[in-house]
Amino acid sequence: MKVLIHTLGCPKNENDSEHLTGLLEKEGHEIISDLDKADVVIVNTCGFINDAKRESVNAVLSYGKAKKKNSLLVVTGCLSQRYPEELFSEIEEADIIIGVNDYLNLPRLLETYKERILKVTETPSDYFDYELRITEEGSVTSYLRLSEGCDNCCTYCAIPMIRGPYRSRRIEDILSEAKALSEKGVKELILIGQDVTNYGIDLYGKLVLPELLKELNDIEGIKWIRLMYCYEDKITEALIEQIRDLEKVVKYIDIPLQHLSDNVLRKMNRKSTQKSIYHTVSMLRERVPGIRIRTTFITGFPGETERDFQILLEGIKDLEFDRLGVFAYSGEEGTPAYSMKGKVALEIRELRRDKLMEAQLEISLKKNLNMKGETLEVLVEDEEEKGVYLGRTRYDAPSIDNSVIFTSDEKLKKGDFVNVYIEDGFDYDLKGIKV
Ligand code: SF4
Repeated sequence: MKVLIHTLGCPKNENDSEHLTGLLEKEGHEIISDLDKADVVIVNTCGFINDAKRESVNAVLSYGKAKKKNSLLVVTGCLSQRYPEELFSEIEEADIIIGVNDYLNLPRLLETYKERILKVTETPSDYFDYELRITEEGSVTSYLRLSEGCDNCCTYCAIPMIRGPYRSRRIEDILSEAKALSEKGVKELILIGQDVTNYGIDLYGKLVLPELLKELNDIEGIKWIRLMYCYEDKITEALIEQIRDLEKVVKYIDIPLQHLSDNVLRKMNRKSTQKSIYHTVSMLRERVPGIRIRTTFITGFPGETERDFQILLEGIKDLEFDRLGVFAYSGEEGTPAYSMKGKVALEIRELRRDKLMEAQLEISLKKNLNMKGETLEVLVEDEEEKGVYLGRTRYDAPSIDNSVIFTSDEKLKKGDFVNVYIEDGFDYDLKGIKV
């Protein structure tokens, strides 16, 4: 069959779609991008927050209308894991609805299809390694999954309900995949999971990320190793030393903090405090000179007072994060926060989000202007127009962080690493010339 896969949501969902591609190709199916030719359309949905759920339902409905006659529409991902019965009864266009633990069943379900199918299996107790994974041909960047699920149980988050408890992947499986990716030409590994810093605690009884980084650093051909989704209270001395000492581990770390007021952090069931966050940020900057810190915050959490918000606003002005994202709180049914008192009005939630981003814009501009005169290594991502390229530095993750727009007389291609002299800085971008 000719199969089209449409992926929504986070890098973990992209990773799942790559596994699905591997499974289907092994069974002789062909993955295509032309909807008119597709015998099967798979929508890999996101079910994290309302906006994402809405986007997923709209995608399913539009494919339901647009798909060719007699082709099958398959819905999978977090939305189907979270709302299987509702989706099955409300979206008749969907022929097959499977959960995030049912990919292995899909080839057989497609082969034997007679009538609508709903198959959403409970979360397995161990990490299930699909082994087969088809990544984008010629891509020099790849996500590398360390785990599935989460045990942190933040009160606003639906992930533990959808993806289950924390399950680490076996270290030998991670390393063999990393080697295979390097042999395919991958130069940048982006480590992902719900909580990368928790890696190994269930399987090996201790935090094993520092050891894993050492092993990954020894893999030939890899140039950049990037840490995403780190949890503040698990940023250990050992981890900081590895970030400082291992050549390929980029001096960049993503630590979603969510808030800076102890009153709100407690209500969120976050293990961090304002004091521990300030300590960790200063320790990282002291021990790893030049490290870039990315974080995300939520505004308007139930019970957030104006004073809490001022603590957050003053905090980001104080700490001056290098990269920052802000979300207005979105209530998710089934989470503890959903039934909490002290709901904050939507316009206040969004107003506070915008105020934080205004403050961050000034900080980001100042930091980018300070880069003028520096020469940075840049990974080429695209040619905007003849001789004008778009890329990113080791201090920027794909799609969410800053870019470098630069000129080059020499013809470059996607995936090249080049040195760029920084001529100017803007809010979220740098401008330069290849040297
Ligand atoms: S750390 Fe918290 S926010 Fe992140 S996936 Fe786990 S429960 Fe959700």
